[in-house]
Formats: sequence, C-alpha cells, structure tokens
Amino acid sequence: MRLPTLLRGAFADALTLVLPVDCAGCDAPDTTLCESCRVALAPHVRRRDIGGVAVWSGLAYEGPAARVIRSLKQEGRTALAAALAPALAAAVTAAGDGDPVMVVPIPTSRAAYRRRGYRVPELVARRAGLRAERVLVAGRRTADQRGLDRGERRRNVAGSFVAARPVAGRRVVVVDDVVTTGATLAEAARALRAAGAHVVGCATVASTPRLVSRG
Ligand SMILES: [Zn+2]
Repeated sequence: MRLPTLLRGAFADALTLVLPVDCAGCDAPDTTLCESCRVALAPHVRRRDIGGVAVWSGLAYEGPAARVIRSLKQEGRTALAAALAPALAAAVTAAGDGDPVMVVPIPTSRAAYRRRGYRVPELVARRAGLRAERVLVAGRRTADQRGLDRGERRRNVAGSFVAARPVAGRRVVVVDDVVTTGATLAEAARALRAAGAHVVGCATVASTPRLVSRG
C-alpha cells in the first residue's frame, strides 16, 4: 500500500494501538516495550572525542537499545521515540554543560524521509522536549554510508552540509540518533563552524560499541 509520506508515520503509530505488538527490545509478547527493556534504556551518558568534536551519547548501541532504535528507524514504530528521548535529553544536557543551546539535527536524506515518512533525530528530540532547528542542508550528493570504512566515510561526507540559516555566535549542539565513526557529526560541526556557530558538542541517542572500543 502506498501512502503519502506525511501520513505514513502517523499511520504506523496508529497501527501499534490496534494490533498486538511484541517488545521492540526483546520480543516479549503484547507490549510495545517491556519493563526490563525500559530499564535498559535509562541514560548512561558517555563521551567520545572524534575528529575534534566531543560526542555525548545516552546509550551504548547494543542489546535492547540497539533493537529499539532499529525498530524506530526501520519498522516505523514511531511511538518508541518517547522511550529513547531521555537518552538524547541527557546527552544534550551533557554536551551543552546544562546551558541553553541551539539544537541542530543531522538532516535526514530525501530517500530516507520518503522511505520512513519521519525524521528520526527530530522525532526523538521533539519527544525529549527539545526544539530541533533545521539549519543544515545537503551541500552536495553523498553515497550511502553503510558499508564504508571510517576513512571512506570521512571522504564521502566532506563538504556535504551547509548551514542554510544564520547561526553566527550561537551555541550549538548537533544531534543524531546513532554515532558510528562520527564522520557525519564532524562534517556537520565543520559546516556550522564555517557559518560562525560555536559548536559546543554533539549528542546522540546511542554510540556503537565499535566506536567505544576504538575510543
Ligand atoms: Zn523487552
């Protein structure tokens, strides 16, 4: 069934209310998210420094957290954004050192938006009570990051974002759902700094263990 993009996210949300669902974190029956998986999503903020940018993440991308994020990103289970919101909120607070900051999401590609009908970083930010300001836009086309190693990712994203709104002098935290190599966040920070912003750090819902082991 083809639905207009804007409707698709809302439709997936509505369907979870009427169809039996399993826990997104562990497949326990008849619950969107079971109690033990909720506990596993309690923020545990960690910091990594990647390419001159400090990245705070609320969760490790493993176990129930990774499964819940994948369900949100790939299965249209948008209601799960609320369960991931505390992790992002804690990461943003840590990145901004508790002071007010401008929250700028990594842009969702047109292809991903068409596929999902929603923008994952913005959705989680909204559930966290954060106003995500759509400042960054694509500067040039890039290939899909999946399957590329760290160096290839950095080259692939170089110059891919530009700031489309004035940010000079603003204290900015860049937000995304998951950080893997950090190449996308570093490119976003570069573009914002080029426009005069003071990028105090980046914040993500989760960081991959691969990054942790390299960190
Ligand atoms: Zn569970």
